[in-house]
Formats: sequence, structure tokens, C-alpha cells
Amino acid sequence: MTQIGKGPVSAPPIQPQTPTETYQKSTLGKVVQGWETTIGDIPTAVKDTLVKTAHNVLHPIEYVREEIDTIKKNPLAFIKRLAIKAGTIGIAFLSPPLGAMLGAAMTAAMFVTPTYQFAVAKSESEIRTTAHGTAQQLVSYAANYAVGKASRFVIDAVKARGSASIGETHARKLKEPLIRNKELNVENYKRFRGVAQEIQQEVRKQYGEVLAKNNLSPADIELALNQKDMRLKINEETFNILEGMALKQMGGFDSQTVQSLALPDMRTIRRYTGKLGSAYDLMDANKAITRGVKKNVLDGKSLTLKAEEALALQRGLGKDDFAALTEAGLGADEIQSVRSFADRAATAEGGKYFLLASKEVDRLKTVPALKRAMTGEMMKDMGFRNFEELDTRSMLMLMQDTRMEEISSVEAYVKNANQLLAKGVRDYATIDRTFEKGLLGKLGVSNETLDKMQANGWENKPDTAIEQYRGVRDVLRVLPEDARSGAIDLLDKGPAPEAFAENLTQFLDEKISSSFEEKGIAESFLATFKGDVEKANFLSSYARLPAEVKKSIFTGLDETGALDKQIVDRFQGVIEERFKVKMNRQAGAIADRQDPNVVDWDPHGSLQLFNGLEKMSVKGQLPEKLEGTTYFRTSGEYGTFGYQFSKSGKDYVTIGDFALAAPNRDEGIGLPSGEGTIVHESGHAMQLGGPHLDWSAKREDKLDAEVMKNWSRLSDWRETNRSLADGKTRDQSGKFVSYYKDPATQVGNRGLVASDYGATDPAEDFAEFARYFYSEPVAAMKLSPEKYLFLNDFAGGKFSPQQVMAHSEMAGLGSGTVQKAVDGLRSKFEKFGLPNEGSYKMN
Ligand SMILES: [Zn+2]
Repeated sequence: MTQIGKGPVSAPPIQPQTPTETYQKSTLGKVVQGWETTIGDIPTAVKDTLVKTAHNVLHPIEYVREEIDTIKKNPLAFIKRLAIKAGTIGIAFLSPPLGAMLGAAMTAAMFVTPTYQFAVAKSESEIRTTAHGTAQQLVSYAANYAVGKASRFVIDAVKARGSASIGETHARKLKEPLIRNKELNVENYKRFRGVAQEIQQEVRKQYGEVLAKNNLSPADIELALNQKDMRLKINEETFNILEGMALKQMGGFDSQTVQSLALPDMRTIRRYTGKLGSAYDLMDANKAITRGVKKNVLDGKSLTLKAEEALALQRGLGKDDFAALTEAGLGADEIQSVRSFADRAATAEGGKYFLLASKEVDRLKTVPALKRAMTGEMMKDMGFRNFEELDTRSMLMLMQDTRMEEISSVEAYVKNANQLLAKGVRDYATIDRTFEKGLLGKLGVSNETLDKMQANGWENKPDTAIEQYRGVRDVLRVLPEDARSGAIDLLDKGPAPEAFAENLTQFLDEKISSSFEEKGIAESFLATFKGDVEKANFLSSYARLPAEVKKSIFTGLDETGALDKQIVDRFQGVIEERFKVKMNRQAGAIADRQDPNVVDWDPHGSLQLFNGLEKMSVKGQLPEKLEGTTYFRTSGEYGTFGYQFSKSGKDYVTIGDFALAAPNRDEGIGLPSGEGTIVHESGHAMQLGGPHLDWSAKREDKLDAEVMKNWSRLSDWRETNRSLADGKTRDQSGKFVSYYKDPATQVGNRGLVASDYGATDPAEDFAEFARYFYSEPVAAMKLSPEKYLFLNDFAGGKFSPQQVMAHSEMAGLGSGTVQKAVDGLRSKFEKFGLPNEGSYKMN
């Protein structure tokens, strides 16, 4: 469930500036003005491009937002349009010389690549990387523009000394593809760029020949040029300024550090930091590099190694372990590659496997060998056996698959894979398909039916077979029992996948229709659903709505009025009175921030909200910590299923529309994913304080940190320098600042964390564990009796001592387990005391 986000979501307010203002203020603007005075007028088309570029680079986030909106509508057309535009600029440039055309070619390169990236850029870190990419493109654009100009001056200088003309011939060559193809599409653009590159190479070659023939040294030429004007000098400064700008804006380096560095070192650092996967790593690398520069280490290679060393130490490696990596000949980029692989493949446990790599580096030597060794170790730790003959990619895919599943499915997945691997199966698709069929079996589909499905073409296309089985599973999994057996009956008739899909839709529509006496209500619901999964989610939620609530919401509606609004109004009345929370009905804003994605609640969302809150209540009352929380609904492509944030001591929880239509793969059977999201986000709101503390103004970070640290103790979440993770760090002024999903924060006992997503951060660990605690308490108890008991206490005693004992028994735990967990908690919280501990005095 990688889509669930908590996010503090306090985007800095955008200060709108017109492109021209930005441009005038920008370094780039100054550079271009410099060119104008020394080179002469720059054509308007190019100037406009530069103005826009300067604006975009200085306001990357704003740019990305705008671009995403445009590109989403039609990515291909957008790229094409830009290519054509770039072509026009190129044509406008045909009369001036070579350099300008190279510049135009680079303009095209600059636009096409990043805009394409924007089409897929979604998460914050991707946006950062993309913005960084834009800066890099800008640097290379200006650089090539400058190189182009310089080439021309060199040619002029060489010509002046009696050499053959090379400029004209090649300018014609470049002109040709543009003239021949009046419209520059992507293909033509590529050709155009190819020619431009060819010319550049040719110029270099001929330049060399001319130098040799005339017995000139490059220094002679440079001298001649430098005597003539300062243009080369300007070009050099352009590099310096632009590299420095990229380092400052995208790497967060201060002016003093940047000014201390030479151009090649700046470049090394920019390339290295550009590849860092998280903002936290970037921050830490920045600190290490800045510290190094202060100590007068000015060489890019040493500085980036220092950054990697800092990141390694944060993940629990010793200085010796890091030295082993460098002594084996690995450079900063290679070490980064090994470390970030470990971070990605083993969330919050990267340090453990990175350490292993440092121990094995003498023997294994290369980056791929180290990655393979780490992967094997991860597989072993997850319980996989007999996988040694698989390639690394298959291993990673097997592990990736388990990340989408809930606890008991993961167990089943590993068990199934091990059986097949022991039989000599080496094909990933076979292993995965067998597992999917196994899960269908668990949901009540008989082997006979599965055989019929196979005979009727369900596996004809191996690529789509898994997706088809998964699609069925997603619907069956969430349906209430009677509807599930009805859907299985449809499968049992053995239709081909396409026919089954049609039958299923019809079946679900009928189920929904027959749920309501008034036909209008069903129609009103059906009109809003996005596909079968959402319909199944709805049936599940509706089936679990308490009878008296069902009656008070769905009977006696005025069929002549808007049914949706009446239903939501009624839900609002029930929810706000019963749970003492607020449902936001105002569209367009959240807290004091405008947000067009915020919409009014709809009936389906209200239904899931009711069920989620009801589930978290004890005897009809929501935990005190959640009272006063405002619940929002968001629509559109929000990027997350939901998120929680706090402002002025108040909690806000939003649930995204598409959480309602999402399949449930990591919830208990019969539960929709949106409800899990509501519990997850409410879990954040509980852990991170809440209005019950009656703070009139700002949330007290210190107390939040204490609560987080208590939770961290239970699975041994450690920050850098091995202190318990509290989600806070102090900035230079000593103020508490939140951190979130810092990859340097490592978990000591991953086995006690409920999901892979929960393993990203102690806050996500809490929210994910809460989801299990409320939806599948037996699974939560089995995973960690201590965490179960801690949360039970924290959440106001959701389960009675009798229920606690029953859950322990159902989880198959021994009779002394609960008592042992109580003792464990007492030993851990001696200092803080455990409130309500009396409730665990078992007999
Ligand atoms: Zn979360």
C-alpha cells in the first residue's frame, strides 16, 4: 500500500513572479545580457526561451505543477509541440552561424527531455530530481550555446590565419534537414540533433588539423581570441555561475561552499547529489560536503566520498567497514549505488545489508556481485529457500510481490514459492500464478473451478494471466460472504475471462440494486462507482453498516430531491454527533489553504467514514485523542490514498476518492481498502497528539517526539547515532523539526512491523499496525503482543481483558504470552510509566 501518505503537506506558499521579473533578477538573465553586449543582439525567439527557462528553473515546483496539468491531457502532442517550437527557433537562426544553431538544438533537447519526465513525475522526490534535471539541462544548454559560439570564434580566428572555410559547408548541412522537413517532429528533431553533434565533432577535428597544419598550439589560438575580446572568459564564467546556481538551488549548498570549489569539482558534486534518492540523504550529504570544504578539502571525489561515508555511518556501518569499500576500489558513485540499492530493496533495513556488502567486498569486488549477495540475504531473511539459481531480477520480483500483501498472504506466498523452488521451478511467472490461484482457493474457489478456468483460456496469455486472476481475487476478497459465493458460482460456470467480466458487472449491479427498497438510491450510487472493485467495496461496507444506522440514513428519503445530498446530510448528522468529529462539507479549501482537490463528501465516502470510525470506537465512543478531528474528502489524482496533518493543535484527515475504488490486498478478507485508509490516517492523528491535549496554539513537538519514541522502543527504531527514533530532529537554532521517512532511520526488528509500508518510518509503523489492530486483531496479536497491548492501552482499551486473552488464544500463542508482554512493556516503560496498566492484570 505504497499510496498511503501521511505527509505534513505544508507546501511553501508560491510567490508568483512573472517570467520577465524572474529573468531580470536571475543570474542567467545577467549572463544573457552580458552576451548581448559582447556578441550583439540575441534573436527574440531565443530570448523568450531563455526567459521562460530562467523562470522555470527558479520556480521548479510551480513549473512542474503547470506542466503536469498540460501534459496529462496529451503527453505526445505536448512533446511534439515543443519539438516543433524548437524547430522554429532553429529556423529563425539559420542565417546566423553555427553556434546559434547548436544552441537551438540544445533548446529542443532541454525541453523534450524534462517535459517527458514531468509526465511521470509525481512524488516530491521525483519533482526534486526532475527540477535538478532541468537545471542540468540548462547548464548543458548554456554550455553548448557557449561552445557553439566559441567554435565560431575559433573558426574565424583560424580562417583569419589563412585556413580553409569550414563554417559555411556545415551550416548548410545543418540547414538541410530543417528545410526538407518544414515541420520538425520528434524523429526529425533527432536527426537535427544528430547533425548538430556531427558538426560539433567535425569542427573539433578540423580545428585540430588546422592547428597542426599551421603549426599552431591551442594556446596561440586562445591567446589570439583573448586578445580580441573577453568572450571565452565569459563562457567560462557562465559554466561557473550555472554550476554554482545548480548546486545552490538543487543541492542546497551555501554561497561560501560553492565559491570555494573549482568547476570540475562542482560538477562531480552536482552529479553525485543529483542521484541521491531522498531529500534527507541530500541534506546529510550537503552537511558532510560543506564540513569538508570548511576543512579545506576541495576535491570533488574526496568530498563525495565523505558524503557517502556520512550516509554509511548513519546506517550503522563503522569507519572500518566504509574503509573496506574504498580500499576495494569502489568510488563514491559505486558505493552510492550499493547503498541506495540496499535502502530501496530493504526498507529501513538498508544498513543491515549494506554492512554485509562491506564485509563481502574483498571477496565479491563488483557492484553487481554485491547487489546479488545482498538480495540473497534479504530473500533468506524473508523465509525464501532454494532460490540460489534464480537471477537477481526474479528474486527482487518475488520479494516485491510480497510487499503488496497482508501478513497471512505473505506467509502463504513464501511457502508456495519454496515448494515450487524445491521442485526445481525457476520461472517467476509460474510461481506468481500458482500463488494467485492458491489465494483464490483460500477465498473458496474450488480446484475444479480453477481447472475449468484454465481450460477456458484464463492462462492463454501468460503475461495477462496473473492480472486476470488478481482481478478476480480483488473483487472476491472484499465481497461479503453471500455475494462472494454468488460470484464464485459465476466462475464455476467456466466462462472465458471476458465473459466472466461481463457477468460479474451485471451480478454486482443487481446486488446493489436489490440492497435498497427505493430504486432511486441504488441508481444514485451506481452512477458514481468507478468499476467492479468499487462496487464490491461498497457492498462490503453496506453489509456491515449497523441496522439502526442503515434505517436512519436510507429510509424516508425524498425521492424528488437530490438523494446524494440527503444521504450525506444524514450521515453527517450521525457521524458528528456519535463520534464528535467534523465532516468537511466545503469544497475548495483545507485548513487555511486553498485546494481545488477538496470536495464535498459523497454517500460512498460517508459510508466508509462511518464504518472506519465505528471500528475505532469503544462502546460507541471514539478514542478521546481523535475528538474534534476534521475529515475531508479529496478528488482527482491526489497521489495518495489519504493523508493526515495537524495545524494549530487541530487534526485533519483526508481520504482520497480513489482509495474507495482501490482493491484490498492487504486488509482482512471482507474489508474495503478505503476503510483501512481512514483507520491508518486516524492512527497518525492519534499518535501525533490531538486536540484532547487542549493546546490552544501550536502542537508541542517535544511531546509528540516522546510519544513516537515510546512506540519506536517496541520495534527498535533507531535514528542515526543509534538513538531511538522520535520523528524529530533539531535544526541549527535548536528548534524541533519533523522528519518523515528518512532512509537513515533504521528498524531493528522488522519482523514486528505489520507491512512493508509500515517499515518506512515509526509513524507509518504505528498507522499500519493500527490498521491491523482494528481490522484483524488476531493477526496484530500474533505479530507482536507488546505492540498490540501498547496500542490497546493507547487507544482507550478497545479490547477488554477477555477479548485480549481470546485473541492471544486464536493467534495460537502460549498461555503465558500476554503476561510476558505486559512484563516486557513494564521493563521498557519503567521511566515513563504505562497509563491504564491495570487493565492488563490477567488472571
Ligand atoms: Zn501514513
